[in-house]
Amino acid sequence: MPIYEYRCAEGQEFEVILPMGLAPDLLSCPTCQGTAKRRMSAPTLSLAGTSAYKLIDSANRSAHEPTVVDSRIPGVRAGTPQLITTNPLHRKLPRP
Ligand SMILES: [Zn+2]
Repeated sequence: MPIYEYRCAEGQEFEVILPMGLAPDLLSCPTCQGTAKRRMSAPTLSLAGTSAYKLIDSANRSAHEPTVVDSRIPGVRAGTPQLITTNPLHRKLPRP
């Protein structure tokens, strides 16, 4: 639900959370009980926490802080030759 801002004649500002479209133009001030008018305020269009924000943040971070990649394949000891293919027919192919 959106947050609506109100200000009374004495300058007290307060916020009220109401369902969208149900905020009245006038409310009574919780401090002085006077009439408070609804104020126009900038909407909070935050993407924080959404998957779109995480994707953008990840893309921005990878541009400046790329992840360090180890050349070793997990589970393979260093120094052992790595088989690219296990198909025996590939052994007959010419070597580079
Ligand atoms: Zn007031």
